[in-house]
Amino acid sequence: MASITLNRSLCKRCLLCVEFCPQKVFTTDQDNYPVITHLDRCRSCYLCIYRCPDFAVEVTE
Ligand code: SF4
Ligand code: SF4
Repeated sequence: MASITLNRSLCKRCLLCVEFCPQKVFTTDQDNYPVITHLDRCRSCYLCIYRCPDFAVEVTE
């Protein structure tokens, strides 16, 4: 299974990662930061990495 890291100190809460993940891995918390809710669905397509303008997402196998 993939491992995903979201770096809050870099994240600007644009939520592009939430919107573009085809597997709907992310939801948002009360402060509107993305959170990893369904890691088991991740297919390591790396779209979240490519879409994040702030280099706040890491995905590793
Ligand atoms: S795309 Fe990047 S900056 Fe935007 S909400 Fe996701 S992690 Fe944060
Ligand atoms: S690698 Fe792909 S499937 Fe996994 S969280 Fe990112 S966008 Fe979603």
